[in-house]
Amino acid sequence: MSLNVLTELIKKTVAEIKGKATFIWHGGEPLLAGRSFYQDILEIQSKYREDDYKVINGIQTNGIALDEKWASFFFESHFRVGVSCDGPKKYHDKNRLLINGLSSFDRVYNGICELKKFNLNPHIISVITRSSLKGAREIYEFFKSNQLSFHPKPCSENGCDGLSTEYSISPDEYTDFMIEIFDLWWKDDNPQIKIRNLFNILIGLRGGRPNLCESNGDCHLFLTIEPNGDVGPCDSFLTGKYLFGNIERQSWKEILSGPSYNKYLKDIENSRKFCSGCEWLSVCNGGCLRYSFDEGQDKWTENQFCKSKIRLFKYIRERVCVH
Ligand code: SF4
Ligand code: SF4
Repeated sequence: MSLNVLTELIKKTVAEIKGKATFIWHGGEPLLAGRSFYQDILEIQSKYREDDYKVINGIQTNGIALDEKWASFFFESHFRVGVSCDGPKKYHDKNRLLINGLSSFDRVYNGICELKKFNLNPHIISVITRSSLKGAREIYEFFKSNQLSFHPKPCSENGCDGLSTEYSISPDEYTDFMIEIFDLWWKDDNPQIKIRNLFNILIGLRGGRPNLCESNGDCHLFLTIEPNGDVGPCDSFLTGKYLFGNIERQSWKEILSGPSYNKYLKDIENSRKFCSGCEWLSVCNGGCLRYSFDEGQDKWTENQFCKSKIRLFKYIRERVCVH
């Protein structure tokens, strides 16, 4: 992303978006941009924001290049750091080898340890694939022994042929995995470890408002800014179907009142018609949009995780006796 796009993005955001903005820097691999890129960002943010305007920076990295210098930088500049780690070496290295075919686990693990030395508690995203489906206990024990909260996400991608891949798992398999994780976590009663999506289900079941996008229906607030300034939906839902505008050439006001963003809002609203009358609405709010859109058929559908998620919600409700 050029300095000009960065400047326009930050300047317009702090001027037009009220009160607070969160910038999540990710790629590709965002550490490859180098620290000077993030130093530029901090300088532009402090140049344009008013003193009472809250800016939060987050970064999502594969952790391979994380070292003491990066950890120190993130600590000094108050970045929130997310790291992709699929559990212990045995599972992590199944799908995350270095380009030379060697293990990436030790580098990622050491990077996480560097963050912890600075009291930065990274947010771990752990992708559950076919090869880790049977490893719920080992994965849970690994994160528990390292005092790391984590968010298990399903690998549910289809290949170019539209069919599931050797890595993908089905919604039901994911729910079975999550039930196993939930039982271990609930039995441990260890508040040091949060399983982020399960924790959000508990919030919803107890009548609170979940803070995770996949549980609170706030997809429309997440926007992706491409390196050339193009603005689209959340990157998990980049269908190529929507291009809201370009932040280098337009204001937020123009982009967010434009026809493409308004069509997106309407489409989201229509997609939620599948959820009307659902008793789990306050826990789920329609779930993640990427699972409600069928790319192959170019149409909105019932959320493909709906039924299996309901099974998970029911299971958790029974276990925690919230009625
Ligand atoms: S459980 Fe299914 S119907 Fe209910 S809110 Fe979630 S996606 Fe919609
Ligand atoms: S599309 Fe999915 S990942 Fe993106 S904001 Fe919505 S729930 Fe979150």
